[in-house]
Amino acid sequence: MDRLWAPWRMEYIHAPKSSSDSCVFCENSIEGNNEEKLVVFRGKTSYVMLNLYPYNNGHLLVAPFDHESEFDNLTDPVQMEMMKLVSLSIKVLKSAIQAQGVNFGANFGNVAGAGIEDHLHFHLVPRWNGDVNFMPIIGHTKVMMDGMLETRNRLADGFQKLHL
Ligand SMILES: [Zn+2]
Repeated sequence: MDRLWAPWRMEYIHAPKSSSDSCVFCENSIEGNNEEKLVVFRGKTSYVMLNLYPYNNGHLLVAPFDHESEFDNLTDPVQMEMMKLVSLSIKVLKSAIQAQGVNFGANFGNVAGAGIEDHLHFHLVPRWNGDVNFMPIIGHTKVMMDGMLETRNRLADGFQKLHL
């Protein structure tokens, strides 16, 4: 399998790890500036946001509002809404930014490779033909941020169009 090369992820790897009492998924679960938080859609129990350190343009994260590390500890309604948001996200990635494929996955627990293990989340990485070839060209942080806000707005519009 081809691997995406995402040099800006070094920023994440070298960023100071937040203390245990500040959790980005809990912070972003609170209603507020969705654009600043790169939140794309809020459901009843879970929400969808752009990954600040994406593997590809449009890399989405689906997380529950609950600060929970184990998927099997979530209640049935939360589990169901998370899966529903995964399905809607795939739809939106296809319609709003013309994704040709999507990688979907999750890492539960540190040993499984989770970056933030205390608050579980699903990854959805949109893919296009040839994306592994052009990815290394993107590198400048400012360009990335502008691009991410634009992507965030396109995806948020995509969710709106689903008339949820
Ligand atoms: Zn949390």
